[in-house]
Amino acid sequence: MSASSPKIGFVSLGCPKATVDSEQILTSLQSEGYQSVADYEEADLVVINTCGFIDAAIDESMQAIDEALQENGRVIVTGCLGARADRLRESFPDLLAVTGPHARDEVMAAVHQHLPAPHNPFLDLVPKQGIRLTPRHYAYLKISEGCNHSCSFCIIPSMRGKLVSRPIDDVMREAETLVEAGIKELLVISQDTSAYGVDVKYGLRLWQGQPLQTRFYDLAKALSTLGVWIRLHYVYPYPHVDDVIPLMADGQLLPYLDIPFQHASPSVLKAMKRPGSRERVLERIQAWRNICPELVLRSTFIVGFPGETEKDFEQLIEFINEAGIDHAGCFTYSDVEGAAANELPGQLPEHIKQERYDEFMLAQQAISQARLQRRIGSEQIVLVEDQDEQGYIARSYADAPDIDGLTYIDNTKALRIGDFARVTVTETDAYDCYASAL
Ligand code: SF4
Repeated sequence: MSASSPKIGFVSLGCPKATVDSEQILTSLQSEGYQSVADYEEADLVVINTCGFIDAAIDESMQAIDEALQENGRVIVTGCLGARADRLRESFPDLLAVTGPHARDEVMAAVHQHLPAPHNPFLDLVPKQGIRLTPRHYAYLKISEGCNHSCSFCIIPSMRGKLVSRPIDDVMREAETLVEAGIKELLVISQDTSAYGVDVKYGLRLWQGQPLQTRFYDLAKALSTLGVWIRLHYVYPYPHVDDVIPLMADGQLLPYLDIPFQHASPSVLKAMKRPGSRERVLERIQAWRNICPELVLRSTFIVGFPGETEKDFEQLIEFINEAGIDHAGCFTYSDVEGAAANELPGQLPEHIKQERYDEFMLAQQAISQARLQRRIGSEQIVLVEDQDEQGYIARSYADAPDIDGLTYIDNTKALRIGDFARVTVTETDAYDCYASAL
């Protein structure tokens, strides 16, 4: 990369799906000879990948755009908030271009228009696995785009469209490339991982000479042969998910499922336009745990949804206790521009939402603490993430990066960041484990 390479500042906001979009854009930019720089002053142009999921995320994105315009002035916006181009153009008329999510080609076209690519036929600067925004030892693997559901609080389907699954051989080739590059953990993401392949009628493809269907189970099974940790996110508790539990019990997949339940009361779920019967889900979880006792469940929930009564909320608290939800993210409901739920009757005052949020978090903390205590004295394999004065910071199978807990290891033994290590858990608290290296 020469000093004269055109320089791009890149701001990546939002969920792991947006991170993958950012990685794809950065890979294209670098392969064409653009240089990424870390500050606005140095950049010839700034690209901002925005999030528009909830109000707090929209505010963060709007602030980032405002700051980039003030500090640099030449800004291209992409991502979920970019799907509302009119609103953005109204607030920021000087933007160079606005695209929606998952729009690498449009972003590249806008970059070419405002900052032409250098011509260098000898450029070969991009690692085979592409540019990754995650640390070297783990990577997100996006298997599909869009969603066939129409949850009343969500505008993702209107922004990202209906489900479009990537062919399974394409996903597997990317996974293999990542593993060859040294990745130790693959985190499978999408809007609905369990619906993978529905849109292509589970089309048959060839991978390594073997026929594979573009289907949730086939993907999980094929990924399990790669010899790295495989973690499944955004899975719904459909009957066919039962099929992967034996793979977890057998050590072929991490015994971890991220299931965004959002609520447990039938009337709130109905208002949310989400499927799911509390009793059936609890039975299913129990059956899974009978097969795979170490299964860890992560979920997200919304409290204070329009019309949520005290009884609905109690049902939710009962559910997280009965299901033993190991990790939970909780949001207070807020209107999202364009979402159907905005029109629902029974909007709750902010103080009620906040009280329910506090109560939820306290209940969840107690569940997490009790479930973690059971690990004291156990041996665990952990992936070493970082080091500080006290020792090493790692994650076990039970913890996804950024959203779950950590394992803190005393540093009596030298470990390498990005490697697996064996530890004994000596102590736990509400969310984290403390351990000694073996
Ligand atoms: S499942 Fe519901 S919440 Fe999730 S992306 Fe689809 S519509 Fe949105």
